[in-house]
Amino acid sequence: MTDSFGRTIDYLRISVTDRCNFRCVYCMPEEGADIAPKDWILRYEEIATIVRVAAALGIRKVRLTGGEPLVRKDIVKLVQMVAQTPGIIEISMTTNGFLLSRYARELKEAGLSRVNISLDTLNPERFVRIARRGSLQQVLEGIAAAQQVGLSPVKLNMVVMRAFNDDEVADFARLTLQHPYHVRFIELMPINWYDGSEGGEFLQQRFWSRIFAHTGEPSFQLVQLRQASRGMLSASEMRRLFVPVDEMRQRIEQEVAPLQPAEVVTNGPARTFRLPGAQGTVGFISQVTNDFCANCNRLRLTADGFLRPCLMADGEVDLRTPLREGKGEEEIRRLFLYTVAHKPERHYLAEGIKPVSRGMSQLGG
Ligand code: SAM
Ligand code: SF4
Repeated sequence: MTDSFGRTIDYLRISVTDRCNFRCVYCMPEEGADIAPKDWILRYEEIATIVRVAAALGIRKVRLTGGEPLVRKDIVKLVQMVAQTPGIIEISMTTNGFLLSRYARELKEAGLSRVNISLDTLNPERFVRIARRGSLQQVLEGIAAAQQVGLSPVKLNMVVMRAFNDDEVADFARLTLQHPYHVRFIELMPINWYDGSEGGEFLQQRFWSRIFAHTGEPSFQLVQLRQASRGMLSASEMRRLFVPVDEMRQRIEQEVAPLQPAEVVTNGPARTFRLPGAQGTVGFISQVTNDFCANCNRLRLTADGFLRPCLMADGEVDLRTPLREGKGEEEIRRLFLYTVAHKPERHYLAEGIKPVSRGMSQLGG
């Protein structure tokens, strides 16, 4: 599939649940997270149908994410179903790693190629301050298990926040000296930030309806699934925590060694480097200060069955309703092509337009 800006779309990220066993400060409220009713969540057979249609249209790589994908019952079965779909050449997963030591081997045997594990600190007390559930030790065991069973290369994703963990950037980079990990440093993204300005939201809705209105298709919609703000950092707190990737990179070069460009083929938006003599690599994901929209190759499927062409923009197409109304694969195919045709050229964060409809745990990151 090629979109209207000439980009090949061959990558689908599937959120398999909006539930999670952590409550990371930048992602979910500590208590009272809005969770979709169970019957909204796509069943495995429905996901398999969508993947079959997607693969026939040229999707080659699938990533399972969430919420936390490993909390969904029988997730290994879904991995197997997706891995067996003709046309899918790679299936990966993004996980917080807490349940990974339990499932790593089964996932590998079911056909999972590799995992991205989110890890924001190497300090156990800080871990609890950031994730608010779980334990560092268990995540470290998950990372070791992934490496051991060959879910590799293991990628570690660190969301860098000022005063929370920015002083650990060099330590994370040093991990690549001894281990073949791909450590990726991620800028905090403005998703679900609360500033109480309803006016801003209203403007945003008008903006999107302008973009999509001309098509005359009612399919694109702004799904309002906002999470309760209790226990989330506020937008102004988030802004204070924001660390640009240039600063992360400078810090690594000052505290460890100069980074050399590394030739690594990735599906996505990381710029990749290597420390001299290192086994692993270091990457930077700067969705905010240096966006990668020109090379974006992906679509997202939310756990409740909406196809979304852009993480940072709120338009979505409902696949669940036509699926459950028995409209068949031809209709799903049409909606895929429609979504790809309306994939925005880029995000509009610089213009002050942020996604407001869902939190990251509902989108899959
Ligand atoms: N639960 C899994 C995990 O944490 O890896 C998968 C879902 S999580 C939403 C996917 C990724 O999004 C994680 O690496 C997480 O750190 C990242 N993330 C969540 N909220 C974010 C934000 N506001 N800015 C940047 N990254 C964020
Ligand atoms: Fe859960 Fe992942 Fe969000 Fe953390 S980032 S709360 S682990 S979904």
